[in-house]
Amino acid sequence: MTQLPPETPLDSLEWIPRPRQTALRRLGLLTLEDLLRHFPRRYEDRTRFDRFPDQASDTAVCLCGVVEKTSYRRFGGRTIFEVRLVEEGGGLLSGPLMCRWFNMPWVKNMVGQSDRLVVFGKPRLRSKQIAMEHPEFEVIEEGTSIHFDRIVPIHAAGDGIPARALRELIHRAIESTDLTAIPALWPAERNAERILPDVWRAVHFPETFSECESARRQLVRDVFLGIQIILCSRHTLAKNSGGVARLGTGRIWEKIEAALPFQLTPSQREVIAEISADMASPHRMNRLLQGDVGSGKTLVALRAMIQAHESGWQAALMAPTQILAEQHYLNFRRILDPLGIPVVLRTSARKEGSGEADLFNPAQPAAPPLVVGTHALLFEGAEFEKLGLVVIDEQHKFGVLQRSRLIGRANAPDVLVMTATPIPRTITQTLYGDLDVSIIRERPAGRGAIVTALRDESKLPGIIEFIRTEIAAGRQAYIVYPLVEESEKLELKAATAEFEKWKQLLAPAGVGIVHGRMDADAKEAVMRQFREGSISVLVSTTVIEVGVDVPNATIMLIEEAGRFGLSQIHQLRGRIGRGSEKSWCILLQNDATGAALEKLQVLEKTTDGFEIAEADLKLRGPGDILGTAQTGLPPLGLGDLVRDADIMTEARRTAREILAADPDLKNPANARLRAHVDRHAISQELAEG
Ligand code: ADP
Ligand code: MG
Repeated sequence: MTQLPPETPLDSLEWIPRPRQTALRRLGLLTLEDLLRHFPRRYEDRTRFDRFPDQASDTAVCLCGVVEKTSYRRFGGRTIFEVRLVEEGGGLLSGPLMCRWFNMPWVKNMVGQSDRLVVFGKPRLRSKQIAMEHPEFEVIEEGTSIHFDRIVPIHAAGDGIPARALRELIHRAIESTDLTAIPALWPAERNAERILPDVWRAVHFPETFSECESARRQLVRDVFLGIQIILCSRHTLAKNSGGVARLGTGRIWEKIEAALPFQLTPSQREVIAEISADMASPHRMNRLLQGDVGSGKTLVALRAMIQAHESGWQAALMAPTQILAEQHYLNFRRILDPLGIPVVLRTSARKEGSGEADLFNPAQPAAPPLVVGTHALLFEGAEFEKLGLVVIDEQHKFGVLQRSRLIGRANAPDVLVMTATPIPRTITQTLYGDLDVSIIRERPAGRGAIVTALRDESKLPGIIEFIRTEIAAGRQAYIVYPLVEESEKLELKAATAEFEKWKQLLAPAGVGIVHGRMDADAKEAVMRQFREGSISVLVSTTVIEVGVDVPNATIMLIEEAGRFGLSQIHQLRGRIGRGSEKSWCILLQNDATGAALEKLQVLEKTTDGFEIAEADLKLRGPGDILGTAQTGLPPLGLGDLVRDADIMTEARRTAREILAADPDLKNPANARLRAHVDRHAISQELAEG
């Protein structure tokens, strides 16, 4: 077979049928190389299958059986296709497995009686039978050597192209591509690091798992070098362009501090000193402020903003949500109004004018000294002629690149990024390695303890009684339920039902609700009522997740807690325990078992955010905490920030060496790296419109 160049367009290949080409295009796969870089998302060892389970479990299993019977029914506008699968040679003791697909009528055309079927999914107990709902499946045909009796790759499928078809195409692509011509990012003189041709076969069609792993690591090195080159070249850029020394006078802050009803914590003082010195230096500040929920980061931000103001510069604080921006804004006004320092609010929702002009849009100066807003701020330049400091609250909701964009401006401002998500050290060092880090290690004294308790729903009557008593004593409560994501209509319906339920259960207490389908004004109106105490109970989805501050709230009830992530619950829980009273976080979950139980128990045991983040990382993997989708960096490919931390470190070192010797990547040996950086910059611009 002739070996085709990797850039060969897929639509020039006659062995790919038209409809498949369309489907591949939809997956963003245009060339042979794209196809080769469409890596398996998992593997099935089809040399030996799991035994048919006799109980439900939270771990997915891969089973192979023969279809004994199928049935297809409709009821009330829904369809159900059911397959009764029996284990080959399973013997009398092995029960059948029921597989069901709801509202997926096409499945019935793919699976027939006596077919040999491989299914992958979690076994559940349904009407005393072991069943799988919507398992991944594949019909095994005779004589298909790449699909059976070996380690089989499962690639992310697309519309019009199932995993099996992708597997066949990728297999063919490996045979027909000139693999030596696939560009690697590692520069030529570091030849030892080049991707070896056999890597492609080994990662898609491994003979053994260890072969697969070493191929994976080789590919990851290349991807990570690509990420680090982007990060480090920006870093070079940031360090080279001039910073400004913003010394401040300290006079305004003196007054603010004197008027505070409490003392700053030693930790707050410490980080304030670090930030202040950084701003006063002629280098540009690029700093990450980590502090658990409730540790008092907002004041530290205000301190920095005042220093910029005192030096004659504007300062902006960006919050991830409307509600938070407004809360910061009101907070700042309370502190700054007596001193006559104007602060304005900028959010996309408010700009059109909302009939609340008195509170949120007082007469505004043209170049406001202090601005609070949502990230909409980032995209407007005109009124930020003299922007000296940008504070980004809750970093993980924004992303590395948005930050870089700010840094990339002419007259670049100092940047302070604040986060309550404790980012494990491995990750700060690699992905956020260009940031200096300040950490607030303690919470203000005099805070009431938070007791966390895991309960099942049978305890609900007692819990309701408890909430009623607390409310009668003047306290407030949050009730959080998981988001219903299926459709807008459903979400609205669920929200309304929740609201009615709690209103009845807790009458006569005032109950309000906020959810994702409300517009910003309506949301804020309810939040304000809660903040002011005119309602006692706030029912909500996770829109209260970050930053909301109501010290009188001492109860949080989280429904179906198992559906939330650990870090997410920890964040939520940070909304209570803000006053001096003892607070209660009640996690409702029925029949928690195994990993789910373990997860929720971590929250009963500790309130240390770093400990929880590490546990979360172990239980869920890093993708969920810090996906690159959120950072705006190229995807990690087969890489894993935790498992491959050593590779990241190596890539970082290499990137720095390369850039130290050739800062603009002008050397022909680095042409691929430069093309990579350019391509990424362009795709970012496109993504941002
Ligand atoms: P976070 O770090 O989660 O953003 P905030 O800045 O919202 O925390 O602070 C939480 C609450 O603690 C606020 O009501 C704030 O006024 C208060 N606070 C901040 N610093 C102190 C302190 N040193 N002592 C007591 N309360 C404080
Ligand atoms: Mg905050």
